[in-house]
Amino acid sequence: MAQMKSKTIYCVHCHAEIETRDDLVVSLSFMSLLAYHNACYASALKGCQSFVISDEPINGTASNWLTAVSILLSLVSFICINGYVGAIFLLVPSIRFCSWFMYERHLN
Ligand SMILES: [Zn+2]
Repeated sequence: MAQMKSKTIYCVHCHAEIETRDDLVVSLSFMSLLAYHNACYASALKGCQSFVISDEPINGTASNWLTAVSILLSLVSFICINGYVGAIFLLVPSIRFCSWFMYERHLN
């Protein structure tokens, strides 16, 4: 019986398969999440695509901190201000979750 293979992730820059999570960079572009190789992301940033992709990868260390801070801020907002403000702060962790759901969970 064939081994269950999880979804294959392709780089939007060179269209080759991304094999490890270490080599994956997820970027937010026009409210959609794009997957790149580390090297491809770097060259995409240098090229004309830098106008349409954000400088900060969704799955980077800085983004993880931002996610943690956003969750805290949203909790504080829900309690002290109101639910609408809290919902805005929840956008960041939601995007982070989408990145994990669409790409990172398929890679080791
Ligand atoms: Zn690539």
